[in-house]
Amino acid sequence: MTNSSCPETLEDVLASIGAAGQRMTEIDAAEAGAGNISVCLEQPVDLSAVFDATREVLLPYPSPALAGHTVLITGSGCRLRSLVTDPERNLGAVVIHDGGMAGMLHYATRGEFSRPTVEFNSHLAVHEDHVHRRGLPFHAIVHAQPLHITLLSNVPDYQSTGALSDRLLRWQAETIVHLPEGIGYLPFMVPGSDELTHANLVSLRTHQLVLWAKHGVMARSEASVLAACDRIEYAETAARYEYLNLAIGSRATGLTNAELARVVRTFGIESPLVPVHEERVER
Ligand SMILES: [Zn+2]
Repeated sequence: MTNSSCPETLEDVLASIGAAGQRMTEIDAAEAGAGNISVCLEQPVDLSAVFDATREVLLPYPSPALAGHTVLITGSGCRLRSLVTDPERNLGAVVIHDGGMAGMLHYATRGEFSRPTVEFNSHLAVHEDHVHRRGLPFHAIVHAQPLHITLLSNVPDYQSTGALSDRLLRWQAETIVHLPEGIGYLPFMVPGSDELTHANLVSLRTHQLVLWAKHGVMARSEASVLAACDRIEYAETAARYEYLNLAIGSRATGLTNAELARVVRTFGIESPLVPVHEERVER
């Protein structure tokens, strides 16, 4: 999306967050209270129809570029699977004050929401970074804990951005089309820590999806919540292929570099991962 206003209504955004929570549950990436979702909207939205209570909150990450923006954020301990039926009872909305240090939290008194997820700092940092640098009117973030890719993050062979992307982008031609910059890798850091917040922000400048070792993934999109989910699905499906290949003694080749180069050339994708001269090697 490149237009200056978000065409989606609050109802649309809540429905898409619900669909995202359901999808992450379907792929076993959101057990119990695992995972969280946020959406940052530049356009003012009428929150009074959905939320009946407000209170002032301090922000866990300074976000001056988000002044006046509304950030929808799922609640601490809330289940992503509950978002599809009762989004407004499992998330809150923070309208950020000038200066970006505090905001007005809107929430439903009869819901499950008591406070934003402990990962709110990571969400805010990425929204702040992209809105500040790129002026985005809409930005969505999904954190989930998919089984196979998180398992692989425990295996030394996959513990770098280069190795992870090299291994996982070879299973389906569309993976490199949707994740041309590959998958960012971060070593284990304590959830909610300043260290993770900063490293995550830096990796999501150059990637659309980052793997937090021994924890899960975070994906971002300026198009839609479900587009962020799609990135998680592509990465998790690739990790499942990788897992299955390990189970059969690593007998599958996956796409060769030359085949990936043909995909990249055909779709006009710019990817630092596949030199297009690889195609000549094949001939
Ligand atoms: Zn988590």
